[in-house]
Amino acid sequence: MKNRINILTGKTIGKIAAGEVVDRPASVVKELIENSIDAGADSIEIELENAGQTLIRIADNGEGMSEEDANIACMPHTTSKIRDIDDLERITTLGFRGEALSSISVVAKVELTTFDGNSPNGTYIYIESGEILESRPVGRERGTTVEVRNLFYNVPARRKFLKKEASELSEIVNIVGKLIIAHPHIEFKLTQGERSFLHASKNMGVSDRIGLILGGEIVEHMIKIKDHSGKYKVTGFISEPSITRRDRRGQIFYINGRFFQSKLLNDTLYGAYRSMLERGRFPSAVLFLKSHMSEIDVNVHPAKLLVKFSDERALKETVMKTVRSGFDIVRQQVVDKHLADVSLGPDMIARENVVLRDHSEAQSEFLYQIKDVPAEGKSCGRKPGAPVWEERFQAKTGSDIFQLAECYIVQMKGREIVITDQHAAHERILYEVFSKAKEERAPEIQNLLFPVRIDLSAEEVVIMEKVMENFRLLGFHIESFGENSFVIQAVPAIIKDRDVKTVVNDMLLDIADLNLSKIDKVDELVKIASCRGAIKAGDVLRPNEMRVLLEQLERCELPFTCPHGRPTRLDITVDELEKRFRRK
Ligand code: ADP
Ligand code: MG
Repeated sequence: MKNRINILTGKTIGKIAAGEVVDRPASVVKELIENSIDAGADSIEIELENAGQTLIRIADNGEGMSEEDANIACMPHTTSKIRDIDDLERITTLGFRGEALSSISVVAKVELTTFDGNSPNGTYIYIESGEILESRPVGRERGTTVEVRNLFYNVPARRKFLKKEASELSEIVNIVGKLIIAHPHIEFKLTQGERSFLHASKNMGVSDRIGLILGGEIVEHMIKIKDHSGKYKVTGFISEPSITRRDRRGQIFYINGRFFQSKLLNDTLYGAYRSMLERGRFPSAVLFLKSHMSEIDVNVHPAKLLVKFSDERALKETVMKTVRSGFDIVRQQVVDKHLADVSLGPDMIARENVVLRDHSEAQSEFLYQIKDVPAEGKSCGRKPGAPVWEERFQAKTGSDIFQLAECYIVQMKGREIVITDQHAAHERILYEVFSKAKEERAPEIQNLLFPVRIDLSAEEVVIMEKVMENFRLLGFHIESFGENSFVIQAVPAIIKDRDVKTVVNDMLLDIADLNLSKIDKVDELVKIASCRGAIKAGDVLRPNEMRVLLEQLERCELPFTCPHGRPTRLDITVDELEKRFRRK
């Protein structure tokens, strides 16, 4: 009876094994470049023909090999990088399995030229089907060149599985790109015929290289992150949440200088960005992990594309934490920028720790409602407790005007969006009205139907008595009413709808903060009245109120800034949107 079980020949075994390491041109390219890197090269040139299917030529200026080593290197399981399995704990090279050269020479025709710089001469070797057919001395500079021709010429099944040239090529570019990023001290050139696909010169740093591979635009919007506190140390770049890709190609991971694929990390990134991602969009992240070799196992995949981590939870947590802290950096930048934009003029900074007066008696029909807010510090034009950065649209459906974050009036105007800072705008309006009133000594006033009584501290009484006359110039008619009390009989018409009691109280506080020599200067009063009389951030406005405000602003002489020089409005044109969304 004939045996059903066959003992495979060495050649067949070799071909099967080779298939695990080299399954397409890109894996040959990867293995050969890794050998060059391990050999200490600082210049590696990769030339292709037909996307590597007819030729892959890799030349380096590394340490090279002696004639003897060159002859051994192409035999199965030969490596200079480890002696036994324990060495894996200390491995610093990319290769160690001793399989690449032998595998490649089983499934392709390989020419190897190498010189170690010490031997009397260089060595040339020609191998076919794993057998050295020729070996002779040759002249070469220090380094190694490996030429791989007719890949899979003797494995038709494998050849059939090769994809179209373009897709094999893009896989090669992809893999070389990952190696380029991880080895910034090495010059890389990848060409096919006349065409140069990648060129990273020696002086190109990591972020420039990431730019080369992922596109410069992404790099401009990357956040640098770092956390070296745990057993897995992370350094890297992550994309701002607004910059996403249609695929995960922007997610590149390295552990101890070796790139690897990781669903765990893909998922972790997704989790970190989730609430900020559109469907089908992915963030980019280039993460360089470092750990003790005992915390990982790089020997779980023939092409070493997968790595096993001893503590996946720790890895996940570290990456999550580091990415999140990256978001905090961006958020802080946004807030800082926002605060810088609304920054207080120097004359405003002094007014802190001012206690807000009780305004429970505020007249109910006020146009601009004032919400109760905690009595704590305040800043110019912002009500204490009002949100500093709140992206909330209070859109009225169908309306062309609405309020954003209770602070900005957003208006559609043809091909632009006009955003107005409600406080800055109103302050400008009041400033011009009060200045005119002062000049012409003819303020437009509004008598109050129900005069408002205010009670003051002894100190404030002194101030009030000093400035009452000047108040009158602007349109505030205030009269003494017993010991520490005053009544407001009339106010400037322009602020008749504000909470006059709060306005007057706030003005007094500001005046109290003034340098004595300035206390009775009407100019100062004009500024204070404009600031304190103006609508604040945090005041809710109705569409009609917003329209009136914008109309008044348009009638101003200098509508574009508030009296402190802050802008009152910003115009965003469709043009600009197109630039921001990179349609142009
Ligand atoms: P591994 O890289 O796992 O050791 P390879 O089959 O890729 O196995 O290479 C076998 C050996 O050949 C390497 O250990 C190294 O000593 C030598 N070698 C391969 N490529 C080069 C090169 N470009 N420069 C110098 N030595 C090389
Ligand atoms: Mg190798």
